Amino acid sequence: MPISSGLNNDQIRVGIVLPEDKIHKISVSWSSQSKVSGNLPDLGSTHNLSLSVEAGNIKVNGLRGGQRVPDLTLQCPDKVESLSSGTGFQLNPVIAGRGFHWEKQISVNLPGELKITVEEGHLKIINTLNVEAYVACVATSEMGADAPADLLAAQTVVARCWSMALAEAKHLTEGFDVCNDDCCQRYQGTSFLTKHSLQAAMDTLGEVLLWDNKVIDARYSKNCGGMLEAYETVWEGEKVPYLIPLWDAPEQRSGQAVDNFEDLWNYEDAYCSSKRFESVNLAAMLGKVDVSGSYYRWEQVLAKTDILRNLVKYNDKVWMKLTGIRIMERGPSSRIKYLFLDGIDESGRIVEQLVKSEYGIRRMFSDSFLYSSAFVIKNAESLVDDDHVILRGVGWGHGVGLCQMGALGMALANIGYRDILAHYYPGTTFTKI
Ligand SMILES: [Zn+2]
Ligand SMILES: [Zn+2]
Repeated sequence: MPISSGLNNDQIRVGIVLPEDKIHKISVSWSSQSKVSGNLPDLGSTHNLSLSVEAGNIKVNGLRGGQRVPDLTLQCPDKVESLSSGTGFQLNPVIAGRGFHWEKQISVNLPGELKITVEEGHLKIINTLNVEAYVACVATSEMGADAPADLLAAQTVVARCWSMALAEAKHLTEGFDVCNDDCCQRYQGTSFLTKHSLQAAMDTLGEVLLWDNKVIDARYSKNCGGMLEAYETVWEGEKVPYLIPLWDAPEQRSGQAVDNFEDLWNYEDAYCSSKRFESVNLAAMLGKVDVSGSYYRWEQVLAKTDILRNLVKYNDKVWMKLTGIRIMERGPSSRIKYLFLDGIDESGRIVEQLVKSEYGIRRMFSDSFLYSSAFVIKNAESLVDDDHVILRGVGWGHGVGLCQMGALGMALANIGYRDILAHYYPGTTFTKI
């Protein structure tokens, strides 16, 4: 029986510059040694183009006489064995962290093909490349360069499964398979590629996990908080048989994390527990963005005025006061599925607002995206009068599937990547395609 996946062939299309980024000017450069081709004459005479939007076309500076073209295609090698740090087209600027508080402009190095067009008056750039090359780059972008080999191997297989399953397919109507950001998987091309991560990609070439002969939808997040969350807590739809609640630990305990928050708070045996990383440089192992703690346990003080501002932003409602928070339902890991905000509106009426989904809750409570929806309200007793809300929470991210910090904890305990994968995706089978 053939193995099925969401990709039609071994190429993946990644949206790099999107019309919403509103970029009108970009530079594309490459090393004079790289083999580059494209739909422009004279490409051999330069290795630096400056592109801008002019009257709905792309103005190309850098070639003799300049050019104006409706679209531009450039190719360079993308075989995984041909890659090294910095190979490919260097593009500057590109947006990273789109829509988040850490949004910034970076430069990236992209192997494979660039298709550059103008859409809604802005540049749009799609990078099509071999899925193995993409996976090698993603695993590095998601992980620090000093990550242990088994962590990188596990993350590489997971990235490959996620890319091939393409279960979310958020961007098909925009003409590409995935975007370059956390919305899909963080992809910054070969910019941070190391020998180490390239080796992981080569060593695991074609390795995937299957369920029912189908490449699995391998979800992952930074830190589960002690128990893996069930798929259906976070996303709509049917249960997924391999994305189920499990203690992220050597031994399965009885019951679930949600049964007793105090007990969960004090639980330190998990693979992702801060206790395991006391003498470890986490930033070097887990990548560059937002790593300043382990996020296994956290406490945050939120100003009520900030929550009320988000209420206007997302629900168009102006309230005078936030008087209470009613948590209605939690998933097995303690992540909240939905809650109600209670308050008083502009005309003095008592009102309530439903806040749905793990994503919606994290967005409502913090502009910088709350670490997770697995929290309790520490000042619940005095909340009605306080001008702030104190949250005590566990974990970072949705907690479904592989826990990246837990996988790090396992790798540091000398557990091999195939056992790491078997732990996070129980019942799946490992194969090479
Ligand atoms: Zn996306
Ligand atoms: Zn975990």
